[in-house]
Amino acid sequence: MQIIDKIYIDGAFVTPHGDEPFELINPSTEQVIGRVRLADAQDARDAIAAAKRAFPAFSRTSKQERIDMLKRMHAAVLARESDLFDAIVEEYGAPISRAGWMAKHASDVLLQAAKVLENYSFTRQAGTADVVMQPLGVAGLITPWNSDAGFICGKLAAAMSAGCTAVIKPSELSAIQTRIVTEALHAADLPRGVFNIVTGRGETVGAEISGHPDVAKISFTGSTAVGKTILRTAAETLKRVTLELGGKSPFIVLDDANFDDIVPMALGAGFMNSGQACIAGTRILVPQHRLAEFEARVVEEVARTQAGNPHDPKSTVGPMVNRKQWERVQGYIRVGIDEGARLIAGGEGRPQGIDAGWFVRPTVFSDVTNDMRIAREEIFGPVLSIITYRDIDDAIAIANDTQYGLQAYVFGADKARAREVAARIEAGRVMVNTLNHEPAAPFGGFKQSGIGREYGTYGLEAFLEPQAFLAA
Ligand code: NAD
Repeated sequence: MQIIDKIYIDGAFVTPHGDEPFELINPSTEQVIGRVRLADAQDARDAIAAAKRAFPAFSRTSKQERIDMLKRMHAAVLARESDLFDAIVEEYGAPISRAGWMAKHASDVLLQAAKVLENYSFTRQAGTADVVMQPLGVAGLITPWNSDAGFICGKLAAAMSAGCTAVIKPSELSAIQTRIVTEALHAADLPRGVFNIVTGRGETVGAEISGHPDVAKISFTGSTAVGKTILRTAAETLKRVTLELGGKSPFIVLDDANFDDIVPMALGAGFMNSGQACIAGTRILVPQHRLAEFEARVVEEVARTQAGNPHDPKSTVGPMVNRKQWERVQGYIRVGIDEGARLIAGGEGRPQGIDAGWFVRPTVFSDVTNDMRIAREEIFGPVLSIITYRDIDDAIAIANDTQYGLQAYVFGADKARAREVAARIEAGRVMVNTLNHEPAAPFGGFKQSGIGREYGTYGLEAFLEPQAFLAA
């Protein structure tokens, strides 16, 4: 049993003013594994005040000083990789292959940010004016539970690279992972108040950060509904806002595709992070005349997909993060059945032989039309929809007929043709015949998948504002 009764403000672990107790539950076993004392709005205000005090000195640190800090942070988080790995499996339920990637990603993003900073110039010329890119001020960083350490480290790295100080509000469901990251970052010996971590509820701590006049910037990753609330709250003080929100990504299978290669990739993209991924390829678009062949390969492949104990190396789909998410996903499977979609794999309930934990059967519907709720709404679980198309124009129209635009996938044998199709998709990132991440590439959504970009130079500039100097 882990007791987490401290938050991190002004370079120290302190007891929060808030005293709401919150239980942490292992999603694979439903056992209580920890108790958290949640922070409240007063704690958020204390953290913002600390970040505000730290800003004048930190914003004047040199680029080299900040690169050195990022490298120390990288080494410190790397040193805790195995603790982080254990916490990701226990608290979040990620299968070990995924948890290994997630634990490593948390330190990787710090080093990647250091590289971006090395190559970035804060000054430039515009006509006769000198332009200096200035840090925005105190940044509020609000993160979800589906990749806790990666989001904390990634957002903090970009904010600090720019010279901003930060108040971080992670998900209350990830308190054990957050504690490990906080301890690691504390060990990196940064100036007091540069980063503060306040675990509490969104409606209290998150809302306070979104509205506080001393916060200049919000970087939020989470649901589209909460993103809209944050944008409205932040408007009052005209904060700069980056929103990384939901998705309903199309995975376009072109008619020349080799299904033996592509079906495992399609399911990999769909069941990624146990389906709890904003970028999951959840709408699989298949040429009508090859549907039967595609379905047959999907059925074979799903039969080989193991949803269960995350400690088992053969498991690739772990549990949903909690009961609420499990019920939500079950609800959508029912909706799909009621809407007349045809189940070709999975269905309601837990996988066979599992009677505890928030496990879902990896599920694929066929005969889905793009107007069904299962094709329009983000499910955030391992539930995929196969939708047929007549020709390329039809495929593109279906792919783009969504309020979202975070990521898309185009797979086909003719690379040039696949790239042409990709150019017609409305999404911030289009993956052509690959599932590999590129850390230097901008990441973010078109349409209601968000505002702004993260990663690389684009992510750094989200925490900067140009200031022009004109002299006689
Ligand atoms: P969520 O929106 O419920 O919560 C995200 C964070 O916001 C949490 O820390 C939460 O406590 C906080 N929050 C909640 N209400 C708030 C409020 N009123 N004011 C300020 N903060 C508030 O999302 P979640 O359930 O934690 O995560 C799942 C969602 O995140 C999915 O919709 C998914 O698509 C999205 N997501 C997006 C990306 C991306 O990069 N685009 C990545 C991962 C997850």
